[in-house]
Amino acid sequence: MNKLKLHWQIIISLFLGIIFSKALGSYSSFAEPLGDLFIRLLKMVTVPLVILSMITGVSNIGATGKLGWLGIKTVGYYLSTSFLAILIGLFLVNWIRPGLSVDLTNKDLVSPLELPDPVPPLDLILRIVPTNPLKAAVNGDMLAIIFFSLILGICVSRVGGEKKNRLAGILEDAFQAMMEMTRLVILIAPIGVFGLAVKLGNQNMGGDFFKAVGWYMTTIATGLTVHLFIVLPFIYYVFTRKNPIRQFVGMANALATVFATSSSLATLPVTMECVRKNLGVSKTVSGFVLPMGATVNMDGTALFECVGVIFIAQVMGVDLSISQQALIVFTALLASIGTAAIPSAGLVTIFIILETVGLKGEMVSIIVGAMLAADRPLDMYRGIVNIFSDSVGAVVVASSEGENLNAESSKL
Ligand code: ASP
Repeated sequence: MNKLKLHWQIIISLFLGIIFSKALGSYSSFAEPLGDLFIRLLKMVTVPLVILSMITGVSNIGATGKLGWLGIKTVGYYLSTSFLAILIGLFLVNWIRPGLSVDLTNKDLVSPLELPDPVPPLDLILRIVPTNPLKAAVNGDMLAIIFFSLILGICVSRVGGEKKNRLAGILEDAFQAMMEMTRLVILIAPIGVFGLAVKLGNQNMGGDFFKAVGWYMTTIATGLTVHLFIVLPFIYYVFTRKNPIRQFVGMANALATVFATSSSLATLPVTMECVRKNLGVSKTVSGFVLPMGATVNMDGTALFECVGVIFIAQVMGVDLSISQQALIVFTALLASIGTAAIPSAGLVTIFIILETVGLKGEMVSIIVGAMLAADRPLDMYRGIVNIFSDSVGAVVVASSEGENLNAESSKL
């Protein structure tokens, strides 16, 4: 008999947890620590996962020795498309306001939140530079951690020669180990979500909350659709003057694979094959742009993180100022870069942004638990957007390098 897929297990756990809490009333609260345990495990992996993902991603760019024009063009493309995706999410989440259909503030469930005062832009830039990186890691000061990892990644690629960089190898292995740990944590998600659902049921948030989750999913799906079918094809057309349908057809196998696996990394070999064989990008450009893209370029994830955090704030009745939203945009960009390309990793790194804007506490965990139960279809869709953006990046960079992009030719 086939084992039930993890996402189904998670969804079933959510319903079972709520039924359990309704049936047993306050007696069910003994199961709540399972949810706390799960959230603790997720937080446990976040800092090392982000540090290692960042260092290895960035040092890979450096190690290819292509930090020159090709690198600048690629990074420029990655940053600008992720930024555009976040802006789409920001606009939609403020327009649709998915979290506002539930009013927790009346229910005495949330202690009045004390968000840190908005930091003036100059201070924010200064705060990114840690005076003590270890302290930043211990305090979970994410912007500082990311900044340090980024610089360290560049330096790792600069020591020990291009080919035989032992340090890079060790860090790569450590990153693989952290990804494995994250996978294991996500494997116990059904148990964790059960505990979180019991808590949800005991707090009597009722139908409103699920309606809000429905609107949250709609907001993200709409944003991803706009980015996938309007923004990226437009960029493709501007740079290549070719019909974007060619790109969708050429990438069909990779898009189907990421839809099934929810992992850009697992899909990478298929992506490379499609981009080389069907889209005619040279090995040099695709071999550089795609592996880096799979690790650092996640437009779908970036959009999702921005919407997710603002959704949580809305559910909790927190009014975010413009500067706090700007901080979310900036952190979502960095968090998407630091997200590992494995299933549901975006939901792990969402804690980075939550920490940064000061959204924390019991209720945040419960809402993240409900988001996790709804995450699989969103993860499949943002994987598609992530991969498609990588492929458009490869084509854009290749055409800017003067390649003529004839399919079927596997050029050097
Ligand atoms: N699963 C996504 C990917 O591999 C990352 C995420 O969770 O957003 O592209």
